[in-house]
Amino acid sequence: MKVIIMKISDLGGEFSLIDRLVKKVESDLLIEGIGDDAAVIRWTDDQHLLVTTDMLLDGDHFNTEWYTPYQIGWKSMVANLSDIAAMGGEPMFSFVSIAIPDDMEVEFLDGLYEGMQAATDRYGGAIVGGDTTHGKVLSINIAVLGIVAPEHLCRRGDAEVGDLICVTGPLGGSWGGLELLFKDIREGTTKHLEPDCRLDISSKLAPHVNAMIDVSDGLASEVRHICHMSGTGAVVHHEKVPLHPDAISAGKRLNKDPYRWALGGGEDFELVFTIPPGLLSKVEGFGVIVIGEILPKNEGIQLMKDGESTVLSGGYDHFSE
Ligand code: ADP
Ligand code: MG
Repeated sequence: MKVIIMKISDLGGEFSLIDRLVKKVESDLLIEGIGDDAAVIRWTDDQHLLVTTDMLLDGDHFNTEWYTPYQIGWKSMVANLSDIAAMGGEPMFSFVSIAIPDDMEVEFLDGLYEGMQAATDRYGGAIVGGDTTHGKVLSINIAVLGIVAPEHLCRRGDAEVGDLICVTGPLGGSWGGLELLFKDIREGTTKHLEPDCRLDISSKLAPHVNAMIDVSDGLASEVRHICHMSGTGAVVHHEKVPLHPDAISAGKRLNKDPYRWALGGGEDFELVFTIPPGLLSKVEGFGVIVIGEILPKNEGIQLMKDGESTVLSGGYDHFSE
């Protein structure tokens, strides 16, 4: 028998892999399974349960040379809390599982938990469980449970043709900071090392918006997720994409295009959402920026730059080449 060895990148990346591995589940209790920022489970008549999990590994998602232990803890928790924000929900409880190398100092772990707890103090989602084991590299897996009122649930698949596409703040700062860190420059890297999530405004946006997602893999990738799940197309206007000041200054310093980081970088943890034009006035006070529009599916997913339309490409995938 001929053995065919396939690489994950041959499959088309992370999302095709998950499709291949995991069986679809049918349950009256499951409102949203795989495919959104969090799973949505029917809980009570006036609350859905949200469940999300993310894993971060030393040497891949962070390293101990650039990050303080506090920053590793903070960012790990914020990355998870951001997915609850993206569903329009409120975080309730977190579970933290860590694999610790044998030679790791207790003081390092003190700092790690100070960072995680500072994030839950700020945004909610107190740590109530987890698991501790040893491993070759420090790895941190966090699961967060949250709640959302059914009428405030914001799924990736709820965009409608004619909706405006908005972002909650400037983008590209995280990846710009990473590029600086690669060059041993520390100035202008806070957005990368210690990002915030938008739980400060997400529940205020939720009653008005249709689809929502957080920017963990780059704006282009997030808009494509909304379109694929909603069965729509979209246009994003290049000149309207807001750049984070760290992205602008890193771009100048390194002579690189900061829009590439905004569209394809990720870990900015702002929110991208769609809203009917008539409801925009309800959210304008939160500093949101309109960057495009949801189109019918047959118009594709476009980036409009200088009057010319191209395919909206870019976005981070752990397994693409
Ligand atoms: P996010 O970037 O918002 O955290 P991900 O890209 O990590 O979302 O995940 C997308 C979807 O795929 C989510 O619904 C997540 O639960 C699911 N998923 C990711 N990895 C796996 C896996 N190994 N097994 C099952 N589901 C997974
Ligand atoms: Mg997400």
